[in-house]
Amino acid sequence: MADQKQRPSNKTGRTPLFRLTVLPGDGIGPEVVAEALKLLQALEDRGVLHLSRREAIFGGGAIDATGSPLPDDTLAACLEADAILLGAVGGPKWDSPRATVRPEAGLLGLRKKLGVFANLRPVKAWPALADSSPVRRELVEGTDLVVVRELTGGLYFGRPRGRQARSRYTRVVDSLVYTSIEIERILHVAFQMAQGRRKLVTSVDKANVLTSSALWRELAIKVGQSYPDVTLEHALVDSASMQLIRTPGHFDVLVMENLFGDILSDEASVLAGSLGMLPSASLGTSRRGLYEPIHGSAPDIAGKGWANPLGTILSVAMMLRHSFGLEDSARAVESAVGQALDAGCRTRDIAAPGTPFLHTHEMGDEVVKRLR
Ligand code: NAD
Repeated sequence: MADQKQRPSNKTGRTPLFRLTVLPGDGIGPEVVAEALKLLQALEDRGVLHLSRREAIFGGGAIDATGSPLPDDTLAACLEADAILLGAVGGPKWDSPRATVRPEAGLLGLRKKLGVFANLRPVKAWPALADSSPVRRELVEGTDLVVVRELTGGLYFGRPRGRQARSRYTRVVDSLVYTSIEIERILHVAFQMAQGRRKLVTSVDKANVLTSSALWRELAIKVGQSYPDVTLEHALVDSASMQLIRTPGHFDVLVMENLFGDILSDEASVLAGSLGMLPSASLGTSRRGLYEPIHGSAPDIAGKGWANPLGTILSVAMMLRHSFGLEDSARAVESAVGQALDAGCRTRDIAAPGTPFLHTHEMGDEVVKRLR
């Protein structure tokens, strides 16, 4: 774990120095990351943060420049950092299913190399945005949950995998592989998180069909015994996907394997009004974390100034909290976002149809203006 007390300090000797690696990525990635950096600069100007920043190529742009989505220099810069801020990767140029190298492979590789096995995706229904969600206001109101997704195992990494041409057909295989160690460590993250919240863990699985889920459920019960103050419930993934829309306010911490988490956290994003609102943090056993909005590179709006930067800005709040230990600054950022929304600031994705909206950089300015 990074020890902040032993870090070199800036000239005033008061604020520790943190190393940040910035991966703007593709599509709207650089647009939303620019606003997050503006916010970090504002914190530095106020003397509460001191950063050494490095920027590196990653994703589709890196494939074009080097042939690899995760060049060695980029990986080295990430491994040396205390925190990594990522925009998004991908786009139609690199999207062919037959492509031999894809931007997403860089993302999976980076998560694996960093050892960030726990992906935290908080979903909060901001009161000012309750009418932006396609789900009815009375269902959405009060939603405040975290999806804890296992990030470095399961179907996305399991072997064997591949595609075999047979004489009359093509056969494909993906493998869902977990060890009990991988499952237990993510369950501990969920229970510990619930202890600081409303003390309810919903363990999501498909235990009626999958062997991996049967072990998951068994271990959830075992690990839960170490947290007697936390209530554990189980939900089958199909039922959980329905309940997330019918009774989102019920949930506190949901924990699940990689693929289930990928799907359910995107579903949960509709409760917040837009994919552009949602942050994420990926953590391992140290304080180093990978922070990124949950959305993709949104090629349909790239370059138009329509991207919502709030998911990335809220990811910076998570970075301040989890990697830099600056809880007050994290809250100040979240509060500035809330105030901007309360004041009626809207990007196109969260504005009522036909009403005026702010461009990406204007929304960033509105948040920075309210930073106390
Ligand atoms: P997407 O998240 O990029 O976009 C889905 C929809 O949400 C689009 O209509 C888009 O305009 C909108 N949207 C997304 N972010 C927004 C924001 N900040 N503000 C306003 N609107 C926003 O998903 P997609 O279209 O399925 O994927 C596009 C590319 O991104 C693909 O190449 C995909 O592989 C990649 N992708 C990358 C990541 C990542 O980098 N972590 C995640 C998901 C998808």
